[in-house]
Amino acid sequence: MMRQKNRLPIGSVLSCCAVLFSSSVVMAQQNVPSESIDVINESVVTSTVSFLASDEMRGRDTPSPELTIASSYVAARFLGAGLKGLGESGSYYQNHEVKVTKVSAGSLKVSRDGDAVVTYGLLSSSDEAMDYQGRVRMVTDDNASDEKYDGPVCIVAEKFQSRRDQSNLMRRLARLKESGATAILVQVDPDHRLVGMASSSGAPRMQTGRESNSGHVVLVEKGAAEGDYELSLPRQMQATATVRNVIGMIPGSDPELGKEAIVISAHLDHVGIKGNVGDIICNGADDNASGVTAVLSLADAFAAMPEGPKRTVIFMTFWGEEKGLLGSKYYVSNPVWPLEKTVANVNIEMIGRPEAGASGKCWSTGWDESDMSELMSVGAKEVGVLIFQHPQFSGDMLYRSSDNYPFAQKGVIAHSFSAGSLHEDYHMPGDESQKLDFRHMTKVIQGLFAGTLPMANGEFTPKKK
Ligand SMILES: [Zn+2]
Repeated sequence: MMRQKNRLPIGSVLSCCAVLFSSSVVMAQQNVPSESIDVINESVVTSTVSFLASDEMRGRDTPSPELTIASSYVAARFLGAGLKGLGESGSYYQNHEVKVTKVSAGSLKVSRDGDAVVTYGLLSSSDEAMDYQGRVRMVTDDNASDEKYDGPVCIVAEKFQSRRDQSNLMRRLARLKESGATAILVQVDPDHRLVGMASSSGAPRMQTGRESNSGHVVLVEKGAAEGDYELSLPRQMQATATVRNVIGMIPGSDPELGKEAIVISAHLDHVGIKGNVGDIICNGADDNASGVTAVLSLADAFAAMPEGPKRTVIFMTFWGEEKGLLGSKYYVSNPVWPLEKTVANVNIEMIGRPEAGASGKCWSTGWDESDMSELMSVGAKEVGVLIFQHPQFSGDMLYRSSDNYPFAQKGVIAHSFSAGSLHEDYHMPGDESQKLDFRHMTKVIQGLFAGTLPMANGEFTPKKK
């Protein structure tokens, strides 16, 4: 309901207030250059986040061609802002090879009594392809049984109600394999969560180290029964894919302070595709196209300063956050700027969908770890943005679950700034740009600029508490 408010027609009471408000804001900006505030505008914010969260980006999974395109867009914007590349050979890219598995989905075939059975991909595979003709045993309850199998079996998966249901099923699959099942067909509804976890498109999937390659597990339509089956199950191939952090900087204008850097960052990746019916694209508009948009607008804003910041400011987007903070972990192990000369990391996560009553407000995670958020709140106030300690989210839990944390573990003062909510569309196809509050986002980015500026100019240096 909050979101609707921003769509009131121009001329409404609300937009009159907004005009009054913004003029009072301009008057209060004594130390914040108006050139910088002007380039953080709703038009640029809206178009940037809408592109990054478009369906064509297919949820920016790690690795995916779309994540690569998104990183190339970030690099193009860094170039446009005049940033200096801090990646390989002067480019903006810090490349890394990750191991992936691929199956050629086209070669997956299941038929029963001569009729094709619909398949939804492979949950796990094997280094050997498998061709089989013969009976497939239906197994309804194997929980207590110590029965042995010597061929393929078929089970029915109920919908997951909880994580426990999911781990129960994984245990059940493992038991069946141990009992001799040479392949397992799992009957599911097309919108079952497992479908989103299967290799169906032939796209490479990152190896997590937890996957089993001990046998074929195939998702099939519900209703298949015992009969004469013909199975053609492809092998899994090992390959590599290139992923990249995108890194650019504005060198500090002060000869001494310029040796110190502030890193402003956000993760570019999201969770890709879920399921295979209806809207399957997890757009990740709030999580975290909104944060990347902030990084790009902040790069524009720092670049627009009449005199550049005294400290060096580094702008960065990460791959693989959703897979376990992988891009930021990679960066802190391979930093392009000495970590002991990195004064702070301002990481930005989910600023597009404010909680009720929190429009234009922003909070940080791990508030009590350092005095940085409090110090930043002073500057943010100058443009009318409140940076506050959130009663629920400013604690330890979220502090450890985003890209600021690998920096913090290396001793860099690092917090994630968020102005969102844990909404029902979190990690779902419904996290779309139409649901974002662009005006709120714009204001919060201006606040983050005004809050970071004194630190970038060496007016304060955050300390651990
Ligand atoms: Zn996120």
